[in-house]
Amino acid sequence: MDEPELDAALEACDREPVHIPGAIQPHGALVAMDEQLQEVRQVSANLESILGVAPADALAMTPERMFTRRWLDQIRIQLDSRNRYGALIVSLRSRGRSQRFRLLSYRSGARVVVELEPISGNPERWLFGAMADWQTELSGHTTRDGLLRALTALVRELAGYDRVMIYRFDEDWNGSVVAESLADGADTYLGHHFPASDIPAQVRQLYSIMRVRDIPDASAAAVPLVPASDPADASPLDLSCGILRAVAPIHVTYLANMGVVASMSIALHLDGRLWGLLACHAAARNILSPALRDALRAMVQTTCVQLELVQAREEAALIQRANDSRDVLVDQRGEFPEPEELLASHGKEWLRIFRASGAVLAAGDQSAGVGTVPDAESIDGIVAWLNRHHSGDLAWSSRELGRTELGRFCEPARASGLLAVPLPIRNPRDAWLLFFRSEKAETRIWAGNPEKTLDRQSGRISPRESFASWKEIVRGQSVPWQSAELRAATDLASDLAVLIAAGEISQLNQRLERLATRDHLTGLWNRYRMEEAIDQEVAVAERYGRPCALVMFDIDHFKRFNDTWGHDAGDEVLVTVARTVSTFMRDADLAGRWGGEEFLVLAANTGLEGATRLAERLRAAIAGLEIRDYGSVTASFGVAVYREGDQRRGIVKRADLGLYAAKEGGRNRVEVSAG
Ligand code: GH3
Ligand code: MG
Ligand code: MG
Repeated sequence: MDEPELDAALEACDREPVHIPGAIQPHGALVAMDEQLQEVRQVSANLESILGVAPADALAMTPERMFTRRWLDQIRIQLDSRNRYGALIVSLRSRGRSQRFRLLSYRSGARVVVELEPISGNPERWLFGAMADWQTELSGHTTRDGLLRALTALVRELAGYDRVMIYRFDEDWNGSVVAESLADGADTYLGHHFPASDIPAQVRQLYSIMRVRDIPDASAAAVPLVPASDPADASPLDLSCGILRAVAPIHVTYLANMGVVASMSIALHLDGRLWGLLACHAAARNILSPALRDALRAMVQTTCVQLELVQAREEAALIQRANDSRDVLVDQRGEFPEPEELLASHGKEWLRIFRASGAVLAAGDQSAGVGTVPDAESIDGIVAWLNRHHSGDLAWSSRELGRTELGRFCEPARASGLLAVPLPIRNPRDAWLLFFRSEKAETRIWAGNPEKTLDRQSGRISPRESFASWKEIVRGQSVPWQSAELRAATDLASDLAVLIAAGEISQLNQRLERLATRDHLTGLWNRYRMEEAIDQEVAVAERYGRPCALVMFDIDHFKRFNDTWGHDAGDEVLVTVARTVSTFMRDADLAGRWGGEEFLVLAANTGLEGATRLAERLRAAIAGLEIRDYGSVTASFGVAVYREGDQRRGIVKRADLGLYAAKEGGRNRVEVSAG
């Protein structure tokens, strides 16, 4: 079929003016009046058969005459009441005898409409008692499936349809039957899917105005209004708020193709949104008593409240599990784990909580994954795309990545769904918590081939003629993400952000401290830190009379070594010498690089003899070093011990003098300062 033509027809179908059909269903009658209830403007052509008044006579009558003053006053009260469905049971004389009607009145533009449905019997007598029992039964169910099954069974028992279904909308307004109760021999629609176009937007809209749609006999001819439009301004009469509105021709055909004569639907609203429909079908006409219809509406209402409860309980359980996992994270404060460790210790739990097949924590150049996730290069691509398009604080999700620009990074079997939450930190700016869901291939049973067909003659959509099952396997989709899951993931991401930011700060502090106190080449203390240490040790020596010594040494002919073997070889010597020094030291000693190829050892609680011995051992050790092919080096040593009244400068100066003496004396030797 020609695409544009079909699109145009589908759009026309969306605009089909179902709310102003200019006719009603034949099981009731309609009277439209002016706003002041002074004159009758339009009536349904069947008024005589229902109310015993011919349309022509009715149009010449005052409303007071038609309804009596008493009921007209009641209509006024009903119009002003907030209760849109407020049912008025009135007795009117019809053909010389009293007949009871259920009367629904509402405003429609500048008119007031009264719809009358004849009532026979007294169902309300037993309904109220029974309703209490049904409510109790419904509220006893704690699972969604159980609850919906119970509702369908109850409704069928009471209202006698062949098939009672719960029809649930997905996010694109496609419907599927999630619960059902069947009379013997009725075809099942359980699990069947219906395309969104089966219930177009304007029809869904009507369900929020009037939550019940009752079609007792779709095969009965509609009854036109007389006159067809308002005699005052020729406007059509909007019947959105009514119950008797005639069935759109396309829907009549649709029902006929399904073999349905009587149809009744009640909207299920959850959290203020149309969630689904209770839909009842019968192969024969089924006129419901209005009181019973109201009772069914009340039961649907109870079910909705109960469903919200079940949903809230499920969400609370999810949040609880997520919070437990967050508590464990908080306990880890002070450990500053990296993404790798975080996923190793919590990843599996997160996968369970978020029903995910894989998770990735990407923070700057660090990224770690758990479970089944795309390869590293693809993750980089995904993160780059997310940064470009969704770097706000909000979570982003898709259940069908193949339909997004991320499709090229994700093989559907591994990742069909993604829930991505940016970590709210500045550094690294591109930090993300990603949850992946693998594909869940789904076999959809469509109630008939969902492709709409175009009627060539009228250019309109004709409802499909066959409702025989038609199977389709839907691929590339994951289980959808729920809003509670998005919220829980956002909370988790903010905890992770804190943890990662704290880790960064702690690492930065460590780096800064190292920078401030360590020599970058050898890892020994730097000159600044050594001076500080000498000051402290001199203070201790002064106060407690505890000895201390300095051993200063300088590598001999190092310039020559560098010139021969190169600067890198020289660096290697410095590192090797520093390592050697460290192995000779006691815990209380400190070794530092004083500058260039000059080193200093501060030996606490050590006198001249001990210090000289230490220097001698160091000298021998350095001289004995084999440094790759470069051969060996020697060093010259100066030793000085604390003297009373010494300051740092004094003792350093003396060690330096000793060193100078060692160089003078022929190098590779230890000299005690004579100064
Ligand atoms: P002396 O026996 O008199 O100490 O002779 P020397 O050559 O060791 O003394 P001099 O002070 O003339 O030269 C010191 C050399 O040490 C010069 C410089 O190239 C080298 N040096 C200083 N710091 C470093 C360093 O970090 N790495 C390397 N490879 N060489 C260094
Ligand atoms: Mg030297
Ligand atoms: Mg030197």
